Amino acid sequence: MPINLLNHLRNVKWWYFMTIKVGIVGYGTIGRRVADGVASSSGMDIIGVSGRSYGRKMDLARMRGFPVFVPSSSAHEFSERGFDVGGSLEDLCSEADIIVDATPGKVAAENMPLYRAAGAKVIVQGGEKHELTGLSFSSLANYEAAVGKDVCRVVSCNTTGLSRLISTLDRAYGVERVFVSLIRRAADPKESKKGPINAVKPVMGVSHHGPDVKTVMPHIDIYSMAVAIPHTLSHVHTLKVTLRSPADRDALVDLLRSTPRILVEKGGEGFFDTAQIAEYYRDFRLRYDMPELFIWDEPLDVVGSDVYIMADVHQESIVVPENVDCIKAMCGMESDKMRAIHGTDKALGIAKSDSCYL
Ligand code: NAD
Repeated sequence: MPINLLNHLRNVKWWYFMTIKVGIVGYGTIGRRVADGVASSSGMDIIGVSGRSYGRKMDLARMRGFPVFVPSSSAHEFSERGFDVGGSLEDLCSEADIIVDATPGKVAAENMPLYRAAGAKVIVQGGEKHELTGLSFSSLANYEAAVGKDVCRVVSCNTTGLSRLISTLDRAYGVERVFVSLIRRAADPKESKKGPINAVKPVMGVSHHGPDVKTVMPHIDIYSMAVAIPHTLSHVHTLKVTLRSPADRDALVDLLRSTPRILVEKGGEGFFDTAQIAEYYRDFRLRYDMPELFIWDEPLDVVGSDVYIMADVHQESIVVPENVDCIKAMCGMESDKMRAIHGTDKALGIAKSDSCYL
């Protein structure tokens, strides 16, 4: 084939002519949100969600028109309730181009041979070990690494927030080292059996978050400590980031404000605490989701080469854009990071101005 024609074919956007078929396994906190994110994105479709037995949370799948893939023993129960039953988990895997596994930690590791035997690409979530896929993903930090890959892990909520921020500072100034202290929500709002309810519970030693950031950016020198508190709305991070080159506070704030998926807002404008942030998004977003990393303006300080930052992470939604990006990268829909991120942000209703995606 002539070289010119080959080059031309490489540049053709094949996904204009095809739709990526996405299957969701695990329709809980993350799975429901990723399914909605995929459904609102062009070039990809939800072909089904898997469920083991009927529970009221599956009604949302029915309302959204997603076929369910369930064990044959439960198929009758689902059909009787008006569900479109597409088949079994095995059927979902053979029909899908890619499976997004959003089951509780360790289930994906058990299911991986089944997914791969059916020929589907697989995304797992942060509750799984890095070694399961050998590639941990966060869009702003390492989008390119996932292009064309068969398996990938989208890192957890805390690691996603940290990776967005640290990779942005690293590109602009170089990061010498990071210390982060995490104040973690004890449980998601629905988790009535988890705690603590009257304690602050420290992790005894280094928390797993710093090492997890290194699965995405191995060159970053980071140490993390964490406590869990009686709270369900979000995680709060307090960081000290030592930069390699000097930063001016205003320029640094401008940089963060012009970075996709990072907000810098003033506490004094109605965001004095995590409850006020959640209350604001209650009026603007489905499920009061805030997939952006929220940084408080007033406490942000630059002292010599050290930057001090406080940030809020909505644990239930922050990984949704990264899951959609990861599908685009793995399935070869978009090899350019910023174009992928821009498209995802527009579809999810969180896009900034076009100039932030150059
Ligand atoms: P979840 O418990 O809310 O949802 C998991 C769902 O999977 C449940 O509906 C459960 O019934 C279903 N499930 C369990 N076993 C299954 C199986 N074998 N087949 C099909 N469905 C099955 O959990 P989650 O909070 O959505 O977490 C999912 C993953 O996302 C975990 O790896 C977690 O670490 C990660 N994650 C969670 C959060 C968070 O704050 N909730 C944030 C980021 C990443």
